[in-house]
Amino acid sequence: MPLLVMKFGGTSVADLDRIANAAAKVQREVERGYDVIVIVSAMSGETNKLVKWVNDTAVFYDAREYDAVVASGENVTAGLMALRLQEIGIPARSWQGWQVPINTTAQHGAARLVEIPRGNIDQKFAEGMKVAVVAGFQGISPEGRITTLGRGGSDTTAVAFAAAFAADRCDIYTDVDGVYTTDPRVVRRARKLDRIAFEEMLELASLGAKVLQTRSVELAMRYNVRLRVLSSFEDASDTSGTLVCDEADIMELKPVSGIAFSRDEAKVTLFTIEDRPGIAAAIFGPLADAGVNVDMIVQNISEKDYDEAHPGAVTDMTFSCPIDQVPRAKRAMEEARANGLIRYDELIIDDEVAKVSVVGIGMRSHAGVAATMFKALAAEGINIKVITTSEIKISVLIDRKYMELAVQALHDAFGLERA
Ligand code: ADP
Ligand code: ASP
Ligand code: MG
Repeated sequence: MPLLVMKFGGTSVADLDRIANAAAKVQREVERGYDVIVIVSAMSGETNKLVKWVNDTAVFYDAREYDAVVASGENVTAGLMALRLQEIGIPARSWQGWQVPINTTAQHGAARLVEIPRGNIDQKFAEGMKVAVVAGFQGISPEGRITTLGRGGSDTTAVAFAAAFAADRCDIYTDVDGVYTTDPRVVRRARKLDRIAFEEMLELASLGAKVLQTRSVELAMRYNVRLRVLSSFEDASDTSGTLVCDEADIMELKPVSGIAFSRDEAKVTLFTIEDRPGIAAAIFGPLADAGVNVDMIVQNISEKDYDEAHPGAVTDMTFSCPIDQVPRAKRAMEEARANGLIRYDELIIDDEVAKVSVVGIGMRSHAGVAATMFKALAAEGINIKVITTSEIKISVLIDRKYMELAVQALHDAFGLERA
C-alpha cells in the first residue's frame, strides 16, 4: 500500500469540529488508496498552558517532569482523532510515543530522535488498520522516561515517520496555506511560494519562521522526504501549498527569497575585557557550559595588537542570545569573573532587540544584497546594532520596536511581493 504522513498542527485540531474537519481530509486520502500515518499536535494553546503550569509550580524544575506534563496535550488529540476516524468508518487507533516506541535521547525538553521501529504499526496495517494516529512532539528516553522534542516538535515527528515508513509524501497541515516570503501575519503583501529549497527553508526556520521546526527540515533534507506545507482550512489539490524540495528542482534562484525575524533576542556586551589570546575561549566556554545558545558575536577592533609590549591592551565583546537565557548568561559571566577566568569593567544587557534576516540561495552569486538591505533600513532611520552573514543569509540586530517596519521595508526593497 502507498503510504502518506499527514500532520495537523494545534490550530487544525483546536476543537472537535476542527478534528472532524481534519479527519475528513484523512478519509479522502484513505479513499484514494493510501494507508495514512496521522501526526497530531496538542489543541492550540494547550502546550502553552501546560508549560505555564510547570513554571508556576517550580522555577528550577525537573526536566523529566516537565516532559511528563507537556507531552500530555498530544495524547488527548491522538485519542480524539482516532475516535473521530472510527466514527466515520475508518479503522484507526492511536499511539503515544512510548507505544511505538519513538526512541529518543534523554535530553529532556529538547530530545533528539534515535530510532522509530516500524514493527508495531506495520503489523496493525497488515491486520487491516487504515490509519495510525501518533501523538507528535513526544518520545521515550533510554531510561524509559517520557521526552519531548522541543517546541514545534510535531513537525519533526511527522518527517521522521515519513522517512522511517518511506512515505510518498509528508503533508504538514497548518493555519496558513503554505510557506510565504515572510510571515503573512506581519506583512500583508507576503507572497506564497510554490516551492522553496531545503537550505532556504532551513535558514528561515532557524532564524525564526515557525511554520516548520528547524529539525524537521534537516531531517527532510537528509532523508529526501517530499515535504509539503498546506492549509487545513482549504480543500487541497495535488498542487496546493508549498513544496520544500532540492534547489535543483527550482527554476530560478532569487538573491533573496524570504525574510525571517526573531523577536525575543538580547544583546550582551562585556566592556573592557583583556585583549589577549584565549579571551574568547574564556568567555564562550562558560557560556556553552551554562547552556546559553550564543548567536551573533562581535569583538571590537583592538587599538593595538597584543604583544609582549602591550599586555594591558583592552577591547569589548558583544554577543546575542535568546532573551530567556540572559539570567544564565549573566550568572556564567559573573562566575567566570569571580573565578579569575576573565576581567571586565561592565556587563550591559540590551533586551529590547530583535533579529531580522534575509535569506536566499541566489545570494551566493549575486553581489549587492547587503548594500540593498542596509540602504532600506537606513531609509527608515533604523539603526543596525550587529550584523552577521553566511553564504545564503544576512542577519541584523535592531531595536525591537522597529522589527515589523524593518521586515516590511525589506520585503519592498527586494520586491518579494512579485513572483
Ligand atoms: P502549527 O500549530 O500548525 O504547527 P505554527 O503556528 O507552528 O502552526 O506555524 C504556522 C505559523 O507560522 C503561521 O500562522 C505564521 O504566522 C507563521 N509563519 C512565520 N513565518 C512564516 C512564513 N514564512 N510562511 C508561513 N507562515 C509563517
Ligand atoms: N504542541 C507542541 C508545541 O506547541 C508541539 C507542536 O505543536 O509541534 O510546541
Ligand atoms: Mg508548529
